[in-house]
Amino acid sequence: MDLFGTSGIRRIVDKELFELAFKIGLAIGRIYQRILVGRDTRTSSDALKYSLISGLLASGVECFDAGIIPTPTLALATKEFDIGIMITASHNPPHYNGIKLVNSNGSAFDTRQKIQIVNMVSDTNLSTITWEDMKNLTRYDSAVEQHIGAILQNIKTPLNLKIVLDCGGGAGSLITPQLLNKMGCTVIEMNCTPSGFFSRKSEPTKDNLKALIAAVKDHNADLGIAHDGDADRTMVIDDKGRFVTGDKLLIIFAQAINAQKIATTVDTSMVIDEIGLHVTRTKVGDPYVSEELRKGGDFGGEPSGSWIFPNISLCPDGIFAAALVAEIASKQKISSLSDGISNYFLIRGHITSNSIIGHDLNKLFEEMKPKYIDYTDGTKLYFNDGWILVRESGTEPKIRLTVEAKTEIKAKSLYRDSIKIIERYMNRGGNLI
Ligand code: MG
Repeated sequence: MDLFGTSGIRRIVDKELFELAFKIGLAIGRIYQRILVGRDTRTSSDALKYSLISGLLASGVECFDAGIIPTPTLALATKEFDIGIMITASHNPPHYNGIKLVNSNGSAFDTRQKIQIVNMVSDTNLSTITWEDMKNLTRYDSAVEQHIGAILQNIKTPLNLKIVLDCGGGAGSLITPQLLNKMGCTVIEMNCTPSGFFSRKSEPTKDNLKALIAAVKDHNADLGIAHDGDADRTMVIDDKGRFVTGDKLLIIFAQAINAQKIATTVDTSMVIDEIGLHVTRTKVGDPYVSEELRKGGDFGGEPSGSWIFPNISLCPDGIFAAALVAEIASKQKISSLSDGISNYFLIRGHITSNSIIGHDLNKLFEEMKPKYIDYTDGTKLYFNDGWILVRESGTEPKIRLTVEAKTEIKAKSLYRDSIKIIERYMNRGGNLI
C-alpha cells in the first residue's frame, strides 16, 4: 500500500480518506498512548480530524485536541506527548487534505515507523477496544502560547520594523501576526483570515507571491513574509520588493545564527559550499534534512522554504523563521545581505513521466565526463563550474532536471545537453513517458 509520500499522507478529499483516517487512528492507538492532534484551516480539516480522533479514542488512547495550529506549533507542543498528528495537506490546493505524523522531538515519522502503520492499517482484524476502556477527548489550548514563548526567548526585541505578512489563509494566521506584534513590529496583514479558502496558491513561490511583492513596495516596508498552508514554510521579500531565493535565505539564516554545521538537500546552490560551513547534502524533502540533523548540526533547510532550527525542534519552523528574519532585518537590510551573496544561474525544469530513471539513462549522462557523480537522490553530475541533477519527483509523476553554473551561457548549455541526452534515451525506446 502506497500510503505515505515524502511528507506524510496527502490526497484529494473523499470518503476513502475519512475511512483511512479512522483506521490510522485505530492503528496508532495500538502503539502510542498520549497523542496531540492539530489541524490546518482547510474546510475538510475538522471532519478529517474527528475521523482520526474517533479511531484514536476507539483504540483507548488519551487524545488531546489543539484545534487550528501550524505544524511547527504542534511539533513543539508534542514534547509533552508520545506523538503529534497534524491534519494538513501543507501547500497543496484546498481540495486536498492529509495526515502528518511527528515524534516528540518534532521529527517526521521515519520509514520504519511508516511501514509499521501501513502494515497495521492493512490488517482487517484491527478492532476497537471495549466501551468501558474508552476515554473522552481533552482540549489543549496552550500550544500557540508555548510556541510564542519559546521563540521570544531566542529573539531580541523590540524591533522597529514595518512588515507585510501573507499567511495565505493558512494556519500561520493564528500565530504569526500576534508574534510579530509582540516583537514590536508594525504588521500589515494579507490573507491572514483562516477561512479554508486560499486566497492565493498556497506554495510560497515567487509566482504565487506577486501581490505580496507589490504590497511591500506600496507600503515601503522593511520586509515581506509569506507562509504556506500549515506554516512550516517561510519565504521572504526584501526591502526593495524582491523575492529572496531559498538558497540565499538559507545562507542568511545560517550566518545569522553562526551555524557551523548545516544540512540541506542535493538540489541547492553550490554557493552554499563557498561560505566556509560544513555542509551535508541529503535527498530532497525536509524529513531527510531533519533526519540528518538528528545526528548533529546547527541548522538545516531546503530552498522551497523549510527551515529547521534544532535548538527549537526538528520540525521545519516557519514561525521561528519569520521571527528570525525580522530580527535580522532590524540589524541590516535584507536586500544588502542578499546582494552580498553570489548569483549563479540555476535552471529548474521537468519532464512528465510515469516511470523510473534507468541505468541506461545514467550511462548516457556519464558520457558527459563529469568530475564525479553522486547518487544520493537521482543522479548528480559535478563539473568544474556547475552541476546537473536528474531525479524523480517524490510527489508527482515527473522527472526533475536541475542545472546550475557560474555563467548563464554554461547553465543553458548544460541544460540543453541534458535534454538532448534524455531525448536520445527516449528515441532508443527508453522508458520515460
Ligand atoms: Mg507545509
